[in-house]
Amino acid sequence: MNLFAPDYYVKSFKTLDLQKLHENGIQLLLCDIDNTLVAYDEAIPNQDVVDFVEKLKKNGIEIALCSNSPNVRGEEFGKHLSVSNVYTFACKPFPFCFKKAMKDHGLKANQIAILGDQMYTDILGGNIWGLYTILTAPIAIKDRNITKVFRFFEELIYGYLERKNILKRGEFDD
Ligand SMILES: [Mg+2]
Repeated sequence: MNLFAPDYYVKSFKTLDLQKLHENGIQLLLCDIDNTLVAYDEAIPNQDVVDFVEKLKKNGIEIALCSNSPNVRGEEFGKHLSVSNVYTFACKPFPFCFKKAMKDHGLKANQIAILGDQMYTDILGGNIWGLYTILTAPIAIKDRNITKVFRFFEELIYGYLERKNILKRGEFDD
């Protein structure tokens, strides 16, 4: 298994098939914020995000937020969505937020999915620690400066995965 290859590749959180999560025994969706749910300079969730969280709850899937960005942003974001478990400054791909999520929700790693836009943080971290990994195309082209560095290396990974026929950018599962 390639540690950068996601289990599931979607264009957007809006196209994510919840049935697939049920089939894989997923009970909690751990969601990255920046460029996964909104652009990094959007302070509060828009209606699409609100609807998505509602849909998850209705379908019996819990949601928690995890972000590598600092506390205030994530907590503010969580408040608007009535999501109580928000793991900020998560340092993905390190496992702090994954372990905390397992403990807080009483779940095993394979019952948790991570949804994110970055291979070096969300997908690598999720794969190392045994979560179900969902890669989404990033929402905006704009990135934080530190993310720009990761994106450069990410280009190399995309190239590698394409050559190995593991994943083709823009050819989504849903
Ligand atoms: Mg992100």
